[in-house]
Amino acid sequence: MKLYNTLTRKLEDFVPRDPQRVKIYTCGPTVYSFAHIGNFTAYVYWDLLIRVLRQNGWTEDRVLNITDVGHLTSDADDGEDKMEKGAKREGKTVWEVAEIYMNDFLANFRALGLIEPTQICRATDFIQADIALVEALDAKGLLYETSDGLYYDTAKFPKYAELARLDLEHLRAGARIDFSAEKRNVSDFAVWKWVREGEDHAMQWEYRGRMGYPGWHLECATIIHERLSEPIDIHTGGIDHVPVHHTNEIAELEGAYGQKMADVWLHNNFITVEGEKISKSLGNVYEFKDLQAKGFSHMDYKMWVLQGHYQSERNFSFEDLAAARQRRLNYRNFAALRWQKQTTDMSDVKAAILAQLNNNLNSAGALAELDKCVAQCVPDEDFVRFLDEVFGLNLITESPDINAELKEKIAQRGAAKKQRDFAKADALREEIAAAGVALLDGAESSVWQYAD
Ligand code: AMP
Ligand code: ZN
Repeated sequence: MKLYNTLTRKLEDFVPRDPQRVKIYTCGPTVYSFAHIGNFTAYVYWDLLIRVLRQNGWTEDRVLNITDVGHLTSDADDGEDKMEKGAKREGKTVWEVAEIYMNDFLANFRALGLIEPTQICRATDFIQADIALVEALDAKGLLYETSDGLYYDTAKFPKYAELARLDLEHLRAGARIDFSAEKRNVSDFAVWKWVREGEDHAMQWEYRGRMGYPGWHLECATIIHERLSEPIDIHTGGIDHVPVHHTNEIAELEGAYGQKMADVWLHNNFITVEGEKISKSLGNVYEFKDLQAKGFSHMDYKMWVLQGHYQSERNFSFEDLAAARQRRLNYRNFAALRWQKQTTDMSDVKAAILAQLNNNLNSAGALAELDKCVAQCVPDEDFVRFLDEVFGLNLITESPDINAELKEKIAQRGAAKKQRDFAKADALREEIAAAGVALLDGAESSVWQYAD
C-alpha cells in the first residue's frame, strides 16, 4: 500500500511497525458549533484509509480526539477560545455546548456509516496528563513564561521547521506588530495559558498555584502519549494543520519525551462550495440538515466525497451531489442484480479496485474500475459485501430482494408480453411500478430495479 507522506513529501510503501496494531491518530472536531460538509470530508477519507488497511489484513488501533477546550479563534495565541465563544453565543455553559455539538458530530459520523474509532478522547479528560507533558518540556528548558502563559521556545527544537518546511528566516522577517513583544521567536506558541485578571474563561485548572488551561496542540500530543504511545504509524488531519497545529504537536511531544511522534502524516485538502471558500458571509456553510432539506442523504454526500481524491482541492455543488446520488442508486441496482441473474466472476474487478485503493487511496480510480464492469457484470453476494467493506455505502442492506408476489407479477407480465397481450402486460407493469419497482426490458427477459 502506498501513501503520500507529508513528512517526506513522497509516495511511500506503508509498513506499520506492528502489523497486528496499526496505530493511527486523527485530529477531531472542535465542538463549538455544527460541523459543515467541508469538515466532514476528512472523516470520510480517513474512514476509507481504515477500510483499506483492513483489506490488507491489518488491524488498527485508532484514536479520535474531541477538542472541548483551548482551541482559539486564531492560530496566534491571542484569539478567543472557540468553546467560550460558542457558550456566549448560545447562553449556555461551555460544558453544555461541548455536549450538544459532540453528540451532533457523533450522530453524523454514525449516519455516514464511518467505522467507530477504537477510542474517542475528550481533551478535558486529559488535563493532568497535559500538565505532566508541560513539566517534561519545562524540565528540558524548552519553555519560558510570559504574562499570559507558558511558551515554547521553538528555536530550541531543531526539527521545528521539518514537517511544514517552514522558512523561519522569512517568517521572522515578515513578523510585524502582531508579534507579541514577549515572544522570543515568531513561531513560539502557548503550551499553557493563564487565565488573565478579569478574563471570562469557564474551563480552568490550577497549575503552579494559578488558574489556566491548555493551549490547543497539547491535547493531541498528550492523548497520543497516553493512549497509543509514540511513535504511531499514521497521523491524519486537514492540510491547514501542517504549518501550525501539527508542527506544534510534534514540537511538544518529541520535545517532551524524545520519541518520534508519527512515521506517516496524511493531510486532506479543502473543498470549496459552488466555487467559493466556505464562509458565513457567503451563506454557503452547508450542514447535513441543509442537504437533507434538499432530499439528499448522508450516503449521497459520502458518495460525492469518495468520487474525489483526498489530496485534491474539490468543489462541491448540488448538481454534483445529485449526480453522486444517481451513481449511488445505480450501484444499488447493480447490487440487486445478484437476485436476478447468473453471477459473473468478479475477482479481476476486485483486484483492480484494491490496486487503485492501495495507490494512495485512489477512491476515484477505484470507482472507475467498478464502473467499467457495472453494465456487463452480475455481482454475487460476496462481491457486494466487498464493495461495502471498502466504500461503506450500505449496498447490501439497501438492495434487498423483492417479495414473491412481485416476482410472480413480473413473471406473469413476461408471459403476457410473449403472448402479445399488451393490455395485460401494461396493467401488470403499472402494478409493479406502484410497488416501487421498475422493469428494464431486454431481448429475452426483463430486469427489475428500484424505481426511486
Ligand atoms: P474549523 O471548525 O473551521 O476550525 O474547521 C475544523 C477543521 O475542518 C479545519 O481545521 C480543517 O481541517 C477542516 N476544514 C475546515 N474547512 C474545510 C473545508 N472547506 N474543506 C475541508 N476541510 C475543512
Ligand atoms: Zn491535533
